[in-house]
Amino acid sequence: MKYRELGNTGLTVSEISFGTIPILSGNVKVLPEYFSPGEDMAIKLMEYAYKLGCNFYDTAIVPEYGDAEIKLGKFAEYIGRKNIIISSKARFFNGNDMYRAVNESYNNLGTYADIYFVHQVNSESEDSTFEKYGAIDALTQLKKEGKILFTGIASHYYDILLRGAKDSRVDVLQGSGNLLERGMLNRINKEQAFRNKGFVLNKVYAAGILPEFFDIHTLINNVLSYSITTALIGLGTMEQVKQAMCYETCPELLPFSQVMARLEKSFTSINCDRCQRCYCIYGTEIHVLFRQYNYYHLGKDYWALRKLNLNIEECADRCKQCTDMTCMNDCPKDINIPKKIQEIRDFVKRH
Ligand code: SF4
Ligand code: SF4
Repeated sequence: MKYRELGNTGLTVSEISFGTIPILSGNVKVLPEYFSPGEDMAIKLMEYAYKLGCNFYDTAIVPEYGDAEIKLGKFAEYIGRKNIIISSKARFFNGNDMYRAVNESYNNLGTYADIYFVHQVNSESEDSTFEKYGAIDALTQLKKEGKILFTGIASHYYDILLRGAKDSRVDVLQGSGNLLERGMLNRINKEQAFRNKGFVLNKVYAAGILPEFFDIHTLINNVLSYSITTALIGLGTMEQVKQAMCYETCPELLPFSQVMARLEKSFTSINCDRCQRCYCIYGTEIHVLFRQYNYYHLGKDYWALRKLNLNIEECADRCKQCTDMTCMNDCPKDINIPKKIQEIRDFVKRH
């Protein structure tokens, strides 16, 4: 295992970190499937990762990740609190709610979280998160009180992560990316503002999809070639822990065109790397639609279709009436976005 500096925090974390979604129990709709081991097994899994060099474990408040936060707290006590770094998170965006959430997490864990993230910040919650007396102010206050050591923002959106990168109150960022969805990582690599922050990368396996098509070493090496601190991987079995923690360094990184060529054997994919440069004046999240379409064909059929079905009709109708087509201005892949959206609508209708 190799280690990297977590931005300016002074912490050194393992390149591979342990995501606790697969060890949760409870009725949680985080992902379509998870492993749900009991407490003893969950602790054994985390211990095995620790023995293989992992020192960073990420979770979220109960019940967002079921009881994973409690299991992680038990593991911390068992292995020795000072031997590991813990991050937790909650989807609260105003200061009061976030303040209460961190105290609740403290009780669940039985200890402090080194890093606490405002979770899944999106365009609707962005302003309340960043404004005065918002969630970041609350985390800053909790840091002063010694209830957490560092503050964080977790988001799937590049612009929000960039805002966090430029905000002196924020210490660590958590975002998503992988071999296929690497557009945001390419942008982060070029943007100086990210250099002083720790960066935790989740969705390295794209919700478990990519290991069907690429070996684990390739998936991990590709993301570690970017300027991130640690690849956060959800782990639920001993075999998964071993594969992730014992990855071999391979110098050959897979170009995007080769990734697409391999996937094209299964279906005609949309050539989108989720760089998020396409701006829709009506707020259509184009990169999310394209992801669901690709994910459908990569094995997440029911889940992806259900999500697409929520708003594809509206999105496609808006495109039909749209005269500005601002989305087309900056797409580096020259995707005919409105045409693809119509195709997705037809596809959803057929299925
Ligand atoms: S064409 Fe569609 S996606 Fe593009 S800007 Fe117009 S409404 Fe938005
Ligand atoms: S459609 Fe184009 S601009 Fe939008 S996320 Fe995909 S590659 Fe980037």
